Amino acid sequence: MPDSNQHQRPTPLIESRVCIDDSFGPFSAKLDPTDREGYLTPFFTLDTVRELAVCTQQLCAEYGRDSETIHVLSILDVADSRAGHEDQPRVVVVQIRWQYLDEGAESAVSIIEPNQDGLYQIGSDDWAWGFVTWSCPRGSQTPWHLPHCDCCHALRPEVVGTDTAGPD
Ligand SMILES: [Zn+2]
Repeated sequence: MPDSNQHQRPTPLIESRVCIDDSFGPFSAKLDPTDREGYLTPFFTLDTVRELAVCTQQLCAEYGRDSETIHVLSILDVADSRAGHEDQPRVVVVQIRWQYLDEGAESAVSIIEPNQDGLYQIGSDDWAWGFVTWSCPRGSQTPWHLPHCDCCHALRPEVVGTDTAGPD
């Protein structure tokens, strides 16, 4: 696929953790830290998308028709095996906006394609993604990927422990 933006180097993505209103997530994600307009636009690995998809489906079961769900569909491609490739499943990530279903499937259903690094941007710009924060002993909140607190210089691993350290 031709890519006219090939020569523009995008800002390197950082690793952090994101959530929506502290009730959806946290999920490990990569994102552009300079993207400060509106909500964050995080990118997720396929494994994280699978986790996230289950959560959207649970929420939909709870809250009903105004929800959006993510689905990871996969199939083993026999032709791939015959061609001597490894048995990697072929994967499609689908987003369904149930609230738009009455307007037709085209408005309600879309396929989310991975970027060139195999990461999926879920929720485009309209899901209210924000950083997960950690709290220092004085109660100051710091975005997850920043390891020390500006107010008291507390270090995240010392405050929240290493077992809950950020994404690898
Ligand atoms: Zn502090």
